[in-house]
Amino acid sequence: MKCREIKDGKSKPTMQTMKDLKVEEKNNRYFAKGQCAKCGGNMFKFLSKDDAAKLKS
Ligand SMILES: [Zn+2]
Repeated sequence: MKCREIKDGKSKPTMQTMKDLKVEEKNNRYFAKGQCAKCGGNMFKFLSKDDAAKLKS
């Protein structure tokens, strides 16, 4: 069973549960892709530019 805590990008997911996190940029939109550490499901979340910079560093 997969948890869907980051379905719409509005809820605040716990990024700690995300593994293999990758920050990507497209058309000046930033987003994070990764795998849920709990269920292994794909996770996707839109990020602010600031959040993206934090996660990259
Ligand atoms: Zn999960």
